[in-house]
Amino acid sequence: MDSEEFRQRGREMVDYIIEYMETLGEKRVTPSIEPGYLREVIPKSAPKKGEKWKDIMSDVETKIMPGVTHWQHPRFHAYFPSGNSFPSILGDMLSDGIGAIGFSWAANPACTELETIVLDWFGQMIGLPQEFLSFSENSKGGGVMQSSASECVLVSLLAARAQKIKELKVLHPFTEDGVLLSKLVAYCSKEAHSCVEKAAMIAFTKLRILEADENLSLRGATLAKAIEEDRALGLIPFFVSATLGTTSCVSFDNLAEIGPVAKEAGAWLHVDAAYAGNAFICPEFKYLMEGIEYATSFNTNPNKWLLTNFDCSTMWVRDRLKLTQAMIVDPLYLQHSHSDKAIDYRHWGIPLSRRFRALKLWFVIRTYGVEGLQHYIRQHCRLAKCFELLVKADERFEVCNNVRMGLVCFRVKGEDQLNQRLLSTINASGKLHMVPACIHGRFVIRFCVCAQDAKDSDIEYAWKVISDTATELLDKKSV
Ligand code: PLP
Repeated sequence: MDSEEFRQRGREMVDYIIEYMETLGEKRVTPSIEPGYLREVIPKSAPKKGEKWKDIMSDVETKIMPGVTHWQHPRFHAYFPSGNSFPSILGDMLSDGIGAIGFSWAANPACTELETIVLDWFGQMIGLPQEFLSFSENSKGGGVMQSSASECVLVSLLAARAQKIKELKVLHPFTEDGVLLSKLVAYCSKEAHSCVEKAAMIAFTKLRILEADENLSLRGATLAKAIEEDRALGLIPFFVSATLGTTSCVSFDNLAEIGPVAKEAGAWLHVDAAYAGNAFICPEFKYLMEGIEYATSFNTNPNKWLLTNFDCSTMWVRDRLKLTQAMIVDPLYLQHSHSDKAIDYRHWGIPLSRRFRALKLWFVIRTYGVEGLQHYIRQHCRLAKCFELLVKADERFEVCNNVRMGLVCFRVKGEDQLNQRLLSTINASGKLHMVPACIHGRFVIRFCVCAQDAKDSDIEYAWKVISDTATELLDKKSV
């Protein structure tokens, strides 16, 4: 493909994307296909000679699109939102066009510096303590983009592990690292995302999964008791992962209580706010961050709830040396003459190669402005409240979470089986897409406001589908 053809195909692709977005609502939200459907229609091996673009795009329309779950669909209410906006798409397009790999400052100075600056902007927007921002005076902290919240949690846990083993080595210089490792224990609540368990599994450390209280919030006393018990067994607390905005129901751990306990125990406190952290750009939600001054590291995903396309997971640390010490390997071919005063992001995470991800977040923040982004978040929260009211007005249903952001968990009063049937019937119809969760041992349905420009009419439509389907199922049950 030469430049002239790229110009033409690029324009056509923009038109294709716009057409896709504008007609999305006419499609089923989930595809109606079976596993292996694509094998049937795509050749078993790659073509020997290049093919015509027209034929490739024709296959996109007839073979790929029928297998796509439409996350941007106005009827998509599953998981959490998948950030998407035109400025963000353009940012990614430019990043791909530049095609430079920013593993060190020298490898792509603009990529490195923009990432640091955008993380400072965003960190200020959500109200992180000054120590997390790289520009503040004598700052030891700073921000970095990772590809996922799971990676942020893993990297924090690895850094905490390295830090604790380094401290223990001073006290026990002749003890093997493996022996020290066997004593380490991390903590999170039952409501934490499974990525914490995965991180502990990868790092080969123990993890104690603690009970949350009746509001699904991890409390300081629960953590303190677990730590006391573990210390009595000779174990060494090294990492606590607290969640602000849990996956199943957007509950909030009590950071103000957990913080002092983690500090006293000498444990690294990571705060995972993958979804809800974005809402902290609105002053009315900042109270939910109380205790953030105790955090050692923090992450949130603009690629979930800030109109930024995957991948864009932002993470800040109070002390960047404590993070990088766990990650530094420094072969000659990666060194450069500014290593002493410039940031090399390859030391802040697992991959060496890094995309120019800061461009898209920079485009988004500049295009919408803080006020535009606040409006977007507030609109989702308002619509979730509207949905909650509709559920509460129907006495057959109950709301099962404290609705503070864009997620409502609800169920038909009665057996889990009935709710399972309700959800599977609705999902199979292709009219809406939602996923389940388990709250207090009961099956609930999660309804998340996801679409970029979600409207009141979308909420009313969704509720009509849900209540009509419930009526059909309940009528059948009573026959
Ligand atoms: N943490 C929380 C609280 C989440 O809700 C999620 C996903 O929804 C994750 C972590 C994992 O996110 P990622 O897919 O970016 O790894």
